[in-house]
Amino acid sequence: MPVAEIIAIGTELLLGEIQDTNTHYLARALRDKGIDVFRATLVGDNAQRISALIREAAARADILITTGGLGPTVDDPTRDAIALAMGVESKFEPELWRQIETRYARMGRNPTENNKRQAYLPLGAHGIENPVGTAPAFWGKIGTAWVFCLPGVPREMEYLLQNAVFPLLEERFDLYGTIQALVLHCAGVGESQVDEWVGDFETYPNPTVGLAAHPGIVDIRITAKAASLAEAGQMISPIAEQIRQRIGDAIFGQDDDTLEGTVIDLLRAQGRKLLIAGDGSQSALFDRLAAIDSHAILRIESGENQIQFLSKALHRKLEGNAPAVGLAVSLTQSEQARRNRLEMAFITDLDPIIETRQYGGPDGNIPEWATNTALNFVRISLLSHPSDKE
Ligand code: ATP
Repeated sequence: MPVAEIIAIGTELLLGEIQDTNTHYLARALRDKGIDVFRATLVGDNAQRISALIREAAARADILITTGGLGPTVDDPTRDAIALAMGVESKFEPELWRQIETRYARMGRNPTENNKRQAYLPLGAHGIENPVGTAPAFWGKIGTAWVFCLPGVPREMEYLLQNAVFPLLEERFDLYGTIQALVLHCAGVGESQVDEWVGDFETYPNPTVGLAAHPGIVDIRITAKAASLAEAGQMISPIAEQIRQRIGDAIFGQDDDTLEGTVIDLLRAQGRKLLIAGDGSQSALFDRLAAIDSHAILRIESGENQIQFLSKALHRKLEGNAPAVGLAVSLTQSEQARRNRLEMAFITDLDPIIETRQYGGPDGNIPEWATNTALNFVRISLLSHPSDKE
């Protein structure tokens, strides 16, 4: 499998003024084509620094893809940087200039003298016509590496990647393969616990298994490199199956599944409604559920945040809202212990189930942790207390 590197060019990316979505898109698209991406870098609009980076990357990778810096202004340095890295002069390309003029004419405008800069290419490089924008792209070789320079505008970059770069790569590389991933989502367990369960898979070379922790959720990613989509699926399935057996109900879904979606599915299957009461810390929880099905849930306002008080209030409300279950949530922070305490109660017509969880992670993650933890508590409670209807 060929190895690629991505280089996103633009000082505004380094200043945090715009988000680098191009790298994200390229990484996914290359992965789907069976091209391994080993490194992605952000670099400012400086021809010397870009050319040094290009030379380094060209020594490591088979394919380099840059985005940005192809505009007509002095601070659009990609052409100069590639010429420097190739150790050649730039040359005016009449055909590229014709394409730019035609494109401007179609927009009812004339190109400026500055636009002429865009018709210069490093000697030995080849222009790539850009029918969806004004900045022409190009490709060239540095040593054994194929270097593709695409515009920064995402729509143009995506179009040229799919319609010009991939066809060229398909001619030159044996792109028979694909890289596919399946992500299993767990909740209610910590990353180290999951690691203990699946650690042996994490040493496999292909498929690889890796963990990613988010507040209240741990993802297990199984990634396979294979000749086809079907083969990748066959490699991933048995591992996913074994992991599901080991972890059981702590896995709530895969890929695009969400905790709130799973809770709503369970409520629908059990023909129940969920009444939520709390001190305000539960509003994100309410919003996430309501975004999927606002009819399945009801928010009970309360000035109190004592879990016992909330539980009693919910218990009284259940009668008028049958068939329903209740969730009470109370989040408190103890300054002294620097621990956040989340009390949760699941209310049915039986005795309430009350659980407490503590969190010692970064303060900024507390709301997301509390929401995910409470959603998972409802999910597990619904699973272990199905309604009579089921
Ligand atoms: P143009 O001549 O059309 O400006 P260009 O190749 O010079 O093309 P840039 O000037 O570097 O592109 O970027 C143009 C715009 O594209 C930026 O203002 C930004 O909105 C967007 N852009 C650039 N790089 C990225 C990136 N890595 N991710 C997302 N958007 C980007």
